[in-house]
Amino acid sequence: MEGGAWLAHKYLMHGPLWSWHEDHHKPNGNLFQKNDRFFLIFAVPSWLSIMFGMIYQFQFLTGFGAGIAVYGLVYFLVHDVLIHRRFNWFDKTENKYFRAIRKAHKAHHKNQFKQGGICFGMLLVPRKYFHI
Ligand SMILES: [Zn+2]
Ligand SMILES: [Zn+2]
Ligand SMILES: [Zn+2]
Repeated sequence: MEGGAWLAHKYLMHGPLWSWHEDHHKPNGNLFQKNDRFFLIFAVPSWLSIMFGMIYQFQFLTGFGAGIAVYGLVYFLVHDVLIHRRFNWFDKTENKYFRAIRKAHKAHHKNQFKQGGICFGMLLVPRKYFHI
């Protein structure tokens, strides 16, 4: 899942779908960003996989759909709440891993453009971010 999210972020969001992701790098102060549409993009196949997986007793498909749903939830908690603080649930964390995630994604956001970004992943953080 993390690998898929990395690929999607690097090659789709910073590629043909940049127009939806752009306002996440250049915030306009609105509560909802165009970038939030990506949640729907992942929610639909996840819901369909779970539904058809259950109807046809095809457990692999159900598991696949559930995997996307779980990753989506983790993504929301980590990316939108922990990093971008849309809610103040984890504001006081001293956890080393959480702080490293935050720093790595801040490095991603330093670049406001489509090209030349770094740190497209979310949960796998390069070692150096644990030491700064
Ligand atoms: Zn980005
Ligand atoms: Zn991003
Ligand atoms: Zn972000």
